[in-house]
Amino acid sequence: MRRNKGVVAHRDNGGGSVTLFDTDMVGDYHARPMPDSLQVQLNPIKLAARGERLSGTLQLKQLERLCRLLESDQGEVVGEVEFGTDLQGIKYLEGRAEVTLSLRCERCLQAMEWPLEAEFKLGMVVSETRELPESYEPLMLPPDEGLLSLGPVIEDELLLHMPMIAMHPEGECDPAVVDELRVLKSPGRENPFAVLDQIKPSE
Ligand SMILES: [Zn+2]
Repeated sequence: MRRNKGVVAHRDNGGGSVTLFDTDMVGDYHARPMPDSLQVQLNPIKLAARGERLSGTLQLKQLERLCRLLESDQGEVVGEVEFGTDLQGIKYLEGRAEVTLSLRCERCLQAMEWPLEAEFKLGMVVSETRELPESYEPLMLPPDEGLLSLGPVIEDELLLHMPMIAMHPEGECDPAVVDELRVLKSPGRENPFAVLDQIKPSE
């Protein structure tokens, strides 16, 4: 599996986006605004044959696996996906998703905003034996009709792009909190009130 380093980007998610991931895309689709839902299944093979392009939003709280790693489940994922067939006949979906996550800073343990952008290019495969060029990450289609929801696909990509360690930039943690944590962590401390000296402003 490809593991890209997370690309940090900022985006104003305020309004204006059309919800499409929950639209019935098995048949004809139009940009019908609907409440977010991950229940609707789409047929990626058909969408690839037609070269469809979709964009829309997902509520973060619907992505349970991702939310387990977050300080807050509030927020919205904005994404766009293009389906197509390449010159070798490989059906693919290519897209990007953006969201601002709330993660815990490893240094000061406070919540921090983490803009995350995931770009992906997935080649559709129906059996383990299909070889894909390196530029693709495999997307195993479910058996039977091969219907799938985009929600879990996007969630997988966001998980792949999560930082190993989230931390405020150097110098941006609250110094009082950092000092306090340092004292609490250091073993064999003689004077428990030494912390008071350390959290005093140094000037
Ligand atoms: Zn911090």
